Amino acid sequence: MQDIEIDVLIIGAGPSGCVAAAYLHNKEANIKVIEKSEFPRFVIGESLLPRCMDHFEEVGLLDTIKEYGFEIKSGARFIRENTFCEFDFSKKHTEGYNWTWQVPRADFDLLLTDKLKEKGVDIAFGHEVVDVEFEKNGISKTTVKTKTKEQYVIKAKYIIDSSGFGRVLPRLLDLDKPSKIPKHSSIFTHVEDIHRPEGREGTLITFDVIDKDCWLWVIPFSNGKTSIGYVCKNEVLDNFEGNATKKLQSMLKLSKYYHERFKDVDFLFEPIIIKNYSKSVKKLFGKGFALTGNSAEFLDPVFSSGVTFATESGLLAAKLIVKELNNETVDWQKKYADYIVEGTTVFSSYVKEWYTGNLQTVFFEGTNNPEIKKQICAVLAGYVWDKTNPFVKNHDRLIGTVAHVIRLENSQEVAKYQKS
Ligand code: FAD
Repeated sequence: MQDIEIDVLIIGAGPSGCVAAAYLHNKEANIKVIEKSEFPRFVIGESLLPRCMDHFEEVGLLDTIKEYGFEIKSGARFIRENTFCEFDFSKKHTEGYNWTWQVPRADFDLLLTDKLKEKGVDIAFGHEVVDVEFEKNGISKTTVKTKTKEQYVIKAKYIIDSSGFGRVLPRLLDLDKPSKIPKHSSIFTHVEDIHRPEGREGTLITFDVIDKDCWLWVIPFSNGKTSIGYVCKNEVLDNFEGNATKKLQSMLKLSKYYHERFKDVDFLFEPIIIKNYSKSVKKLFGKGFALTGNSAEFLDPVFSSGVTFATESGLLAAKLIVKELNNETVDWQKKYADYIVEGTTVFSSYVKEWYTGNLQTVFFEGTNNPEIKKQICAVLAGYVWDKTNPFVKNHDRLIGTVAHVIRLENSQEVAKYQKS
């Protein structure tokens, strides 16, 4: 195969790479996407957030997704024992989309790449990035290996690394750093949802809390299948006996609410286990490259922020590269790294406070205040840069404070009751 020379090489054709590619292609940059797998391929990350609708719309992919008929997601439901806490995206503090989708990613990602190919984007499936060398000026030479083990080199002015958990540049450039999110594992599969209830109940995305560190997700798709998966501490997963199928079958008994619905369904594939999934990096960009999506950072599935950060960062990196290609000066630290970190830090606080139990206290013992609920809802919809939202501005303090007040009020209620 012939070596080639382009403006931008995009590694990975997940949502991050696709949104970046769509933007750059619209701006007539000379690009190529290198994707290791053949599509459709399975990947987890099925519950989207309204914020990512803005990204798909901006790059001209939203209408294609709308036509497909994925399951609409208009909020999220959390259950603990007999207590329900539902968020409705139409009742949120920040303006923006109030719905999105629940998608089987194999179909979703194939749809995006088919559309890109139709627009004329060059995507090489079954080609894997195996090595990258940077010159001092940021120009890179990337070695790509084909399925038939041939190799060729791509010379590019920029690389957008959107290789997800492949984490190509973090590995090759030694950029990985330990995540500050508590360590958890996940086990998940898809099922034919034969006992799915009629109507809204059957389509609701739900997070069923078994205990502070262990929860089940249920994500119904429009094709009649449903994604089910547990998140828990590593040792909890290890303590369930048997292979992955046996483990997940036993774990499903933990859910009072969903056990009946899923107790005798066949798993459509052997459940997949991912341990210690949270990832972080020392830096988000360097001369000639930007890390986007999971290649940059992954926190936790609990608030479904992964794909939205993937599209947010993919789009932003692409925009900044276009500016530089047009000879504008870009402050990557301020315009890229600081902005992305601002958003991930907000979500990071929510994830941490979920596992301290504070956020669960707010959800299940005290979201009667409609203003607080609207403000938290905006965060759960992915609008984490809106500083008019006190739950964004004071993300590191407010959840703990509100949880404390709720516990205090509840204990006073109990004391009053005991006295009377
Ligand atoms: P990906 O979608 O992973 O795409 C990366 C692509 O790069 C892949 O197609 C891969 O084949 C390719 N690639 C890898 N290495 C190479 C290489 N060397 N050369 C060429 N190509 C390469 N997010 C949500 O938004 N909602 C959820 O409900 C959700 N649930 C999750 C549950 C779990 C248990 C986990 C672990 C994650 C979850 N996520 C969720 C996160 C979500 O999976 C990711 O954030 C999202 O897929 C990231 O998109 P991406 O485009 O960065 O990477």
